[in-house]
Amino acid sequence: MTQRKVRVRFAPSPTGALHIGGVRTALYNYLFAKQQGGDLILRIEDTDSQRFVPGAEAYIIEALTWLGIKFDEGVGFGGEYGPYRQSERRDIYKKYVNQLLEAGCAYIAFDTPEELEAKRKEIPNFQYDASTRMQMRNSLTLSAEEVKSLIDAGRQYVVRVKIEPNEDIHVNDLIRGEVVINSSILDDKVLYKSADQLPTYHLANIVDDHLMEVTHVIRGEEWLPSAPLHVLLYRYFGWADTMPRFAHLALLLKPEGNGKLSKRDGDRLGFPVFPLEWHDPKSGEISSGYRESGYLPEAVVNFLALLGWNPGNDQEVMGMDELIRSFDLSRCSKSGAKFDYEKGKWFNHHYIQEKPDEELVALFRPVLEANGVDASAYDGDYLARVVSLVKGRVNFVKELWEQAAFFFQAPTSYAEKDVKKRWSEDTPRIMTELMDILRGIEDFSSKPSEEVVIGWITERGYHMGNVMNAFRLAVVGQCKGPHMFDITELLGKEETLARIEKAIERL
Ligand code: GLU
Repeated sequence: MTQRKVRVRFAPSPTGALHIGGVRTALYNYLFAKQQGGDLILRIEDTDSQRFVPGAEAYIIEALTWLGIKFDEGVGFGGEYGPYRQSERRDIYKKYVNQLLEAGCAYIAFDTPEELEAKRKEIPNFQYDASTRMQMRNSLTLSAEEVKSLIDAGRQYVVRVKIEPNEDIHVNDLIRGEVVINSSILDDKVLYKSADQLPTYHLANIVDDHLMEVTHVIRGEEWLPSAPLHVLLYRYFGWADTMPRFAHLALLLKPEGNGKLSKRDGDRLGFPVFPLEWHDPKSGEISSGYRESGYLPEAVVNFLALLGWNPGNDQEVMGMDELIRSFDLSRCSKSGAKFDYEKGKWFNHHYIQEKPDEELVALFRPVLEANGVDASAYDGDYLARVVSLVKGRVNFVKELWEQAAFFFQAPTSYAEKDVKKRWSEDTPRIMTELMDILRGIEDFSSKPSEEVVIGWITERGYHMGNVMNAFRLAVVGQCKGPHMFDITELLGKEETLARIEKAIERL
């Protein structure tokens, strides 16, 4: 077979917010496509009108764009194989349903929900398949005239695939290896419903993968049970030669215990399971998102890439380009990956340190505003220096405020514990003396002022720790923070003196 250009697709159903596991599927498709010099398609699988949620499609596109996952084709991106929304492809599917009917690989079934229910009661573990189909009301048991007259009379029907029993179906999975399933356990799945004139997932998915020349199907493990049917459909259509290769990704697991990661785990342990905040249009419920929680997209990408794949060495920090270079489906794990949320924080901390200070400032300004500070009153340079002093202490941009508030507001209270330990009867006198020393410093930048103050403490024989901590308490409000003279350099002489004076008055 000639080598085809790699084409993969991310094919979400717009039934709500995209779960973080779905984001990982999209990411792996992207990494694989780019590494192979191929294309990534965004196809919206909206054939289940019952589960359609308005806003979900826009949410999916916004989330993946935020993360830097770029599509070459698809809904919102254009391309030669459209339309890419399945609800706009009805006529196409109709033709392929007829093809299967004519080939005898599918049949029309008229059983009403009540009739099916009655059968389920009558036959334990009822399944619509080779063992039962001849007892049902369908085009295999009715005459051609009866079928035609029922359709002409407007009776609703479905089209079911006709699966021959007792055949081993081989699914070759790039992650799991060969999976063999006997066709007898499969049921005659519904492929088309006359009621909404739409195919079901199985038919639309196969037809579109074929027509869009998809070469690899990379998707979650929950779709593995559908794969044998898909293999059969490829054969029924005569497309076995160009059937895509399958790769089913193992589940994302709960951080502790067993089972699939759920939204409830996130709520319970305090982390988001959605990329962006999601406002459920039906329930009105708001769920937190990685973006709104202060994650950088680079951190989310790096974190997710390693949940279920590894580069074969112990390298952890990898940007998108590097991930594209090293990605390899054969290194995706067969077993589920525990969702280690602490690791996500670690990545975010790391990427905050890597980010240029000016970019952090842009993210910090809204945080200042949210805390009642008029950020426009500060120039970028001042904010960049503040950020560079405190960023080593934070995992999230939001936390910069806790670390840096004193750069914008003089302390209104002093940490009690520190006061007890560091502010003695003698302190006001020493602090007054310190103010004189500070007043005399001409170059108030960090190094020179440090030399003068340390020189003075040494010369007077004061206790270094006590004096410096009292100084810090007066300026910061507690005995924590970055290097003292970096702080005073940024605050300036006047503000530093004012804060010491106020502390002397108040303590
Ligand atoms: N529409 C399916 C989903 O929502 C697509 C599964 C597949 O990729 O084949 O995940």
